[in-house]
Amino acid sequence: MRELPAAVRPVVDFLNTIDVEDGTDVLRDGPEALANWLVEHGLCAARPSVTTADVRAAIDLRRGLRSLALANNGEPVDAEDVQAAQTVPTALTFRMRLPTGTDAAGPDLLADDSGSFSDALGRIAAAYFTASVRGGWARVRRCPAHDCAWVFWDSYKNASRRWCSMRVCGNRAKKCARSTNEERSVPPTLVRGDLSRADLALSLVSKRPRKCSSNADPQPRKPVHGAPASLPPTNSPP
Ligand SMILES: [Zn+2]
Repeated sequence: MRELPAAVRPVVDFLNTIDVEDGTDVLRDGPEALANWLVEHGLCAARPSVTTADVRAAIDLRRGLRSLALANNGEPVDAEDVQAAQTVPTALTFRMRLPTGTDAAGPDLLADDSGSFSDALGRIAAAYFTASVRGGWARVRRCPAHDCAWVFWDSYKNASRRWCSMRVCGNRAKKCARSTNEERSVPPTLVRGDLSRADLALSLVSKRPRKCSSNADPQPRKPVHGAPASLPPTNSPP
């Protein structure tokens, strides 16, 4: 099992500033909320000055990186999302540190640490770049359940984790697939006697969740999502 590298954690935390399941979004809460978040997550030593344009830039960067994290899970890249993020790093200042003879892991892209908003966002962008260069980015994945969309670190040895939680989103997807298959596989020969084809269809529908959503799953999901991204998956997903 590979633990989430400390250098990658800022970008994973940043991508989860939106919680689709809870309907919350730190960035949509405005400049003050974003400034507080940056301090709370160690990206700024003191509260930076954040403008509405800065929030817009952060949203664009997050949008693109979240699309790429979903692509890491085998889903198509949203070109529009990535395009929105393309111009954000050009406004940031970076410096590169070359690997030394004893550290052959690869170069680091570093942002300044002056405490400005630009530098804080630069640290997130640099974390993404460094993770890409060193191979860790492929393990940053977005849960493919659209009503979840949590971003997690794939700690599996063979990098095969698809769901944020096999116990929640993974099982729910399995149940949906099984219900669909059962419905499709009902042979006409089973429709006989007093049970009409319509009655049979209704009986099958009544046995599965009203819809394939988190509302149909009685298990609490937040404790799973709220756990540090480096913790092992609960089924021991994504
Ligand atoms: Zn999920």
